[in-house]
Amino acid sequence: MIPYGKQNISASDIDSVIDVLKSDFLTQGPKTPEFEKALCDITNSQFGFATNSATSALHVACMALELGQGDLVWTTPITFVASANCALYCQAEVDFVDVEPDTTNLCPIALEQKLIAAKAHNRLPKALIAVHFAGLSCDMKAIKKLADDYGFSIIEDASHAIGGQYQGQPIGNCQYSDMTVFSFHPVKIVTSAEGGLITTNDPHLAKKVNLYRNHGVTRDRDLMTNQRDEPWYYEQIALGYNYRMTELQAALGLNQLQNLSLWVEQRNQLRQRYDEAFSQVPEVTVNKITEGNVSACHLYVIKVPAGKRTALFHHLRAQKIGVNVHYIPVYHQPYYKQLEQEFSPCMNAEAYYQSTISIPLHPGLTQQDQDYIVECVKGGLCNLD
Ligand SMILES: *Cc1c(COP(=O)(O)O)cnc(C)c1O
Repeated sequence: MIPYGKQNISASDIDSVIDVLKSDFLTQGPKTPEFEKALCDITNSQFGFATNSATSALHVACMALELGQGDLVWTTPITFVASANCALYCQAEVDFVDVEPDTTNLCPIALEQKLIAAKAHNRLPKALIAVHFAGLSCDMKAIKKLADDYGFSIIEDASHAIGGQYQGQPIGNCQYSDMTVFSFHPVKIVTSAEGGLITTNDPHLAKKVNLYRNHGVTRDRDLMTNQRDEPWYYEQIALGYNYRMTELQAALGLNQLQNLSLWVEQRNQLRQRYDEAFSQVPEVTVNKITEGNVSACHLYVIKVPAGKRTALFHHLRAQKIGVNVHYIPVYHQPYYKQLEQEFSPCMNAEAYYQSTISIPLHPGLTQQDQDYIVECVKGGLCNLD
C-alpha cells in the first residue's frame, strides 16, 4: 500500500531522542524551550508554547480567549473534529462557515454574510478558528478585516501548514490573528510523535497559555494573589491542565525541523507534478494555490464527478493506493447531531464532501509512485464510464 502520508525518521532523529533518555530531564528540561524558540524563529513570532498535541493547544487557546458558556465560536466544517471540539470543551457553542470551492478554505464572503445575519440576531461569534486547509493559508487579510469590523478574535489552526507562507510571511507570525496552533502528529509536515504548539505576539495571551497548559500553577509573582517570600512558594490561580510536551517529543521535533524547508519544497514539487498531470484529465479538478502564498502541501485532494467518487475510491484502494477523504463535514458527526443545536448544511462543503479523494503526498513518495497513482485515477475514471 502506498500510504497517503508518512513520517520520515532519520538516524539523527533517533539519536536525539536517545540523548534525552540518557539526560537528566525527560520532561520540563531544556529541549522544550529550545523547540519553542526554534518555532518562534521559523514563524517570526514572539512567544511559542509547546503542548502534548494540537488538540490541547486549541483548547488552551480557547481558554486564553476566556471562551465559556453562552459564547459562540465559528470554524469551517471541512476540518478535523478537534478544530470544533476545542470550543465545546469550554462550554461555548460552535457553528460552521462554508468553504471556498477552489481552495476548501473558510470563505470570507460566506463569513461576512453570516456575520450580517448574526448581528441582526445579536448572536455574533466571540472567536473564529481559521483552518489552513491542506497547508494553504486562508485569506487572512479579509478575515482580519471582518474581525476588526465585528469584534471577534482569531485562532489560526495551522495544523497542516508549518513551513507555509502567507503573502511572503511565515504562517504562524500572527500578523492577522491572536494565536496560531500547529500539530506535530506523524501525518503532518514534521513530527514529535504527538505534539502541538501555540504562537502569539500578545504577552497577555502568552501568560494565560503558559498557565493553562500547566495546571493553572504559577511561580510568576506578578500573577500571584498573595505576595509571599518562601522560596518554594507557588500558586494555582486557575483551573489548568497538564498539557506539557515531553523532552523526548521536543528533541524529536527540534531535530525534524532541520528538514522543514526541504520537505515543504519536495511536497510542492510533487504537488506541481500532480497539478500538471491532472490538468490533462477533464474529470479531475484540484485545489488552486492562491497568489502570493506557499502551501505546506500537507494533503493533495482531487475532485471527481460525485457519481464516480466512491467507486473510484474503492478502485484506488484495490490498487494498493492509501487514499482517504479529508474531511467528513464536522456537523455530520453523530456527536454533533445529538447536540441540542441544529446546524444548517454548508452547500460548498457538502458538494466538496461528495466529490473528493485525498491521494498520497509526502516527501517519501517517488515519481514512479506518483505516475502509477495518476494512471490508476485515469484508468479508474475510464472504467466507470
Ligand atoms: C491533526 C489536526 C488537528 C489535531 O492535531 P493533534 O496534534 O493530532 O491533536 C487539529 N486540527 C487539524 C486541522 C488537524 O489536521
